[in-house]
This record gives sequence, C-alpha cells and structure tokens, in this order.
Amino acid sequence: MKMIDITQPVYEGMPVYKNKPEKQPNFKSNTNGHVTESRLDLDAHTGTHIDAPLHMVNDGDTFESISMNKLIGEAKVFDLTHVEDGITKQDLEELDIQKNDFILFKTRNSFEDEFNFEFIYLKEDGAKFLAEKNIRGVGIDSLGIERSQPEHPTHKSLFAADIIVIEGLRLKDVDEKSYQMIAAPMKLVGTDASPARVLLFDKDQ
Ligand SMILES: [Zn+2]
Repeated sequence: MKMIDITQPVYEGMPVYKNKPEKQPNFKSNTNGHVTESRLDLDAHTGTHIDAPLHMVNDGDTFESISMNKLIGEAKVFDLTHVEDGITKQDLEELDIQKNDFILFKTRNSFEDEFNFEFIYLKEDGAKFLAEKNIRGVGIDSLGIERSQPEHPTHKSLFAADIIVIEGLRLKDVDEKSYQMIAAPMKLVGTDASPARVLLFDKDQ
C-alpha cells in the first residue's frame, strides 16, 4: 500500500495566509553544550491544519471535541482543477458525494507554491450543499476554505452541520479516487485549530 504525504512542510518563510508576517512560524533554538532545544512560535492555522468550531463561532467547541475516529478512514479526492474562483453547488452536484463521506478537493491551489490572494475556495452554496449531504469532513488545498465572504458563511454552514474542516492540503500528485486517510493533529486542548499530519494510503499500489 503506497503512502502519500499530503502535508505542507512547516518552516520559517513558508507560505502563510495573506503573507502576514505575524503568521510566520518562528523557531528559536537554544544550544547549551551538546544539547539543542527548539521553541516553536506557531499559529494554530499553520500549513496543513484542522479547524475547530471555535475558530468561527464564539463559544464554539474547542479542538479536543474533534474525535480521531472521524479523522481516519476512507477519503475521496475530487479533481476540481478546472474550477475558477470558487467551488459552487453546481460543481459538486455531479460528484459522487454520499452521507458520512470525507472529501478532499484538489484544485489549482496545489500547483502554486506562493500564497495567492485569489485562491480557489468553497463558496457558500457549495458548503450548504455539503451540509445537506451530511458528510463527515471536507479538506481543501488552500490555507482557508473561504475568502471574500465577510460573515464566513462557508465555515459557519460546515460547523453547524458538524463537518470537519481541513485546510492547507497539498494534492498536486494525488489522483482522483478513494484512499484510506489518517489525519493526525496535535492533541491540543482549548484551541480553535491544530496543525496536522495528513497521510493517504493507496490500496491499489
Ligand atoms: Zn484554519
């Protein structure tokens, strides 16, 4: 079974949301004799990460509410590299999306190494469609699952339907099909997000 790592590497100078300097990770290493220890100054939304409802809903559930049971299992990758601007309900209607699915969107974001302010995102009507479908989770290859929607209806619709949101995936070399997925975040308590290592396993290879 072939393993595919779809995680964004984390390093100083990596792509961050809107290129904001305050979102850059900062590693401070301290060497004393032969002992080196690093301290990480890291936004919870750095690179590949999972959002908790608290991110967009005051008094929303914090990170430990997300069960690992929902983060392992089958995941369907859909090739949406033809989509311009944002993913709409119309783009999704033609796909095989079933109740309890975990779906991952491969878009042209995966082919860009710099932060693009016009990144492909999931539009409000697309999020509402997924909420009606009752899926388990959705992942996308941008550092945000939405942009240019002031009240954040995409995040809110997904969280209201108990759908897990993974952002910052890297899917350039991943084909459209089903995989086994392990999405393993840090076991953080009380936060609105956590960086995660996300692995796919291809049973055909
Ligand atoms: Zn996030």
